Amino acid sequence: MIEGIYEIGKLILKDKNDSLASLIKNVPTEKNGRKQYLLYLDFKTNYKDFKFDFKEIDDNTKNEYIYIGNPKAANDPQDRLTTNRLDYLISQTIPNLINALDECELKDILKNILGNYYIDLGDLSGQQKRYRYIIDLNKIGIEEVDSKKIINEIKENNQNDYAKKIIQKFCTIIFDHIKSQKDIAQKDIGLFSILNEGIILADTIDYKNYIINSISNKKTNIENIKNICFVCDSDQDITYDTTKLRFTYYITDKIGFSSELNGKSTKGFLRNFALCDRCLKRLLAGENFILNNLKFRLNNLDMLLIPKFIFKTSIDLEQIKKWSNSINEGFRNKLNQKSLKELEDNLFKIINFEDSYNNIIINLLFYKKDQSAFKILKLIKDIPPSGMINIFKTIAKNNEYFKEIINIDNIELKFEETGYLISIINNKNRDVDFKKVLNFYDSIFSNKPISYGFLVNQFTNVAASIMLNSQMKTFGDETKNLAIYIQKCLILLNILKDLNLIKIGGSMSYENLNVNKKIIDYIEKLNLNPLQAGLFLLGYLIGEIGNAQYKKGNKSKPILEKINYRGMDKNKIIRLCNEIFEKLKETKIIEYHEKDYAEMKNLIDSNIKNWSLNDSENVFYVLSGYSYSTLLMISNKNNNINLDEN
Ligand SMILES: [Zn+2]
Repeated sequence: MIEGIYEIGKLILKDKNDSLASLIKNVPTEKNGRKQYLLYLDFKTNYKDFKFDFKEIDDNTKNEYIYIGNPKAANDPQDRLTTNRLDYLISQTIPNLINALDECELKDILKNILGNYYIDLGDLSGQQKRYRYIIDLNKIGIEEVDSKKIINEIKENNQNDYAKKIIQKFCTIIFDHIKSQKDIAQKDIGLFSILNEGIILADTIDYKNYIINSISNKKTNIENIKNICFVCDSDQDITYDTTKLRFTYYITDKIGFSSELNGKSTKGFLRNFALCDRCLKRLLAGENFILNNLKFRLNNLDMLLIPKFIFKTSIDLEQIKKWSNSINEGFRNKLNQKSLKELEDNLFKIINFEDSYNNIIINLLFYKKDQSAFKILKLIKDIPPSGMINIFKTIAKNNEYFKEIINIDNIELKFEETGYLISIINNKNRDVDFKKVLNFYDSIFSNKPISYGFLVNQFTNVAASIMLNSQMKTFGDETKNLAIYIQKCLILLNILKDLNLIKIGGSMSYENLNVNKKIIDYIEKLNLNPLQAGLFLLGYLIGEIGNAQYKKGNKSKPILEKINYRGMDKNKIIRLCNEIFEKLKETKIIEYHEKDYAEMKNLIDSNIKNWSLNDSENVFYVLSGYSYSTLLMISNKNNNINLDEN
């Protein structure tokens, strides 16, 4: 993993030889369809000339204003002159920078601004220390309030954390002021920056040098151990301060096996992870490129698709972007032979694979970002592209097979839907149960067996949730939702079976079944054992009754109330068989289904003594039959087959 990040960083720094440019972060030019702006505070020698102004954010703004994000850790002193946080600029940024800068022109300018525009709240203790200075609203053109009065009021009412409260209050006042003067709302402002006499201070040479130096740390050799770079073995300019890296999990993950790593002891960690200045810069540049360009969403989770190069390939950054994008499309698109071919052609076009796909391997990093913290949810390592293509191929093959039987829109399984199949979704924010989903992905990509019991249990839980909350319209409208969901579960089981990740079903001689040939073929494809086949037929009959009820105008299909989605034991199933017989008569379709009923009864009765399925499996196979019958009816309608004549 770290090698891939390093290689990308090396490419970037070779091209630009500019470590600052490699750290520039992307900024959205629009959010929710609204233009984003940069607000700048232009300080003047005479405070009466101070002005706020705006600039529409475009693709170049981040370069022009040197936006490299905020220091990573929440407790780091904020020192960025271009930031997405107004509260930093009106309080701690300038004092922090003055403190950190060596003597230079920028330092003098900042001292002047601090002296002319900021109020000193006096010595503060602990966490409050950093909020000692606050901009004076009355000096930045906001005259309708009295800064000192507000400060005193807040101070009186908040003993401990008044400084922070003052900053919050001042931010609100500034945003209100800007809204009334310039008609731009807070949510439309993506960046803030500081100017002096019209000059962008972030673009000064003093600031840029400071940032570059603060990234590469001072030498921090530790006595009595060899100070060598973890990546390249150099012993020059070694640092142990790797807190600026974002993906540290990988690094700890990799050296976690080292004998010297002693639990949580920082010392043990430090001993193992030293970097030279050059490698640190390359890793930072690589991380930044990946976050800017190789970031995708899968199942509402943030995912980085990070390639690692096995052989020295002559690949450039644009190719890496395109290549990752193509793989990502495999996750998102409907896969069939045609789209698969396009995907493969694309991958070949981008990189001329000499003899195999596997010159580049794939790492998938799933993470969550809370404020400034970057939390790794899961890393799936070293996926060979041939393995990934094989998964895509298996999906395409199964999609085509099932689509031929059930010809309706949306029946094909997209890879990204698999997460929704096995996880109950939080209706509000559409979050999946990420642990289950990511473990599942790990199994698929790392070729680890998956528990069939776990899957079926999840399927019935999600089915129950679909019926009870009518959640997840993902799979179609409400009448089709459950049937399509179950159908996709069946496709998934077949895919996993083809990939040898699960074992399902058992053997039976299908040709002896006395039912419609199409049903026999289908049961055979699903590889059902006799009891599963019996339950499938039971579900099929329920579906037929439902269709009859639906045609009579009973769109909610009352027969479905007979199914207990959370699980049904053997006795409940047997009772259901009897009730179904009555319903077949009631809906006057018994004459078409006498054979099916008899066969179903026979299969189930012959298994009563050796009932091999659990309560979830019972329900799942009943639902499978229900889904088949329901979708087949829709499919036949699409194909203009008149069912009443059958
Ligand atoms: Zn190195």
